[in-house]
Amino acid sequence: MRHLRLDVVTIFPEYLEPLRHALLGKAIEQGILSVGVHDLRGWATDVHKSVDDTPYGGGPGMVMKPEVWGPALDDVAAGTAPGQELTTSLPHVDKPRHDDLAGVDGGAAESGEDPDLPLLLVPTPAGTPFTQADAQEWAKEEHIVFACGRYEGIDQRVVADAANRYRVREVSIGDYVLIGGEVAVLVIAEAIVRLIPGVLGNRRSHEEDSFSDGLLEGPSYTKPRSWRGLDVPEVLFSGNHAKVDRWRRDQALLRTQAVRPELLDTAVLDAADRKVLGRE
Ligand code: SAM
Repeated sequence: MRHLRLDVVTIFPEYLEPLRHALLGKAIEQGILSVGVHDLRGWATDVHKSVDDTPYGGGPGMVMKPEVWGPALDDVAAGTAPGQELTTSLPHVDKPRHDDLAGVDGGAAESGEDPDLPLLLVPTPAGTPFTQADAQEWAKEEHIVFACGRYEGIDQRVVADAANRYRVREVSIGDYVLIGGEVAVLVIAEAIVRLIPGVLGNRRSHEEDSFSDGLLEGPSYTKPRSWRGLDVPEVLFSGNHAKVDRWRRDQALLRTQAVRPELLDTAVLDAADRKVLGRE
């Protein structure tokens, strides 16, 4: 059985609490996932436990200090970092797992990178946009470490130095600015973990998700057949699977064209698809 180890370094450990609920909590209980949360202030060296300082060159805000982040990421990579192990919020819980961090496996390595190094994800609005394709790739990892920035972010040398011990990716979850990286970690971790085999009951449910085939997913309906004067589309009662599949494909194409037309530039379209889109 595959197992993913997540380590999160943050100044707000309590922000990561949602990772132990619902399907992620179940994954922890099943031994598919384990999560360690590490308080960055544990590596602060002064009496005030400060983790930030004024920016060189002036300007507003504070920047997170390299002397605090460097040793924290060293210890997490070595598996020696003190921290809290998240236990599942579900009933009938097993004891917290303490997983062996050694023997980390590949994943897509950028040229010149050692594929045996753990993956370090650094959330930042200045990073590469996080996509479903990344989630699919990173669901194959064995050890992912997240570095949560706050204030104006982390001294850039931390990212450069971490490349000695990690495969490092700076990632953005969208074109807006959050207060800190913790919420971005929740987003990225959830998107990754649900793709690990065994986490979702029905494998098809993520294979048919939006983005999996390059398109947005069309609408879904359940009982009752008629609700507040609104009827479920007739074709869904036809019992004709080919017809239902075609209808779903058409809905996905039309929604994608209306909401995210740029996705159609890279989606694989056949003649029937092009006809629905009026692109013959
Ligand atoms: N000065 C930074 C900039 O303009 O690029 C913004 C720093 S932001 C206020 C503080 C932290 O929030 C960042 O270090 C990062 O961890 C997180 N963050 C904010 N927006 C994000 C986004 N869109 N994606 C990922 N992380 C984000």
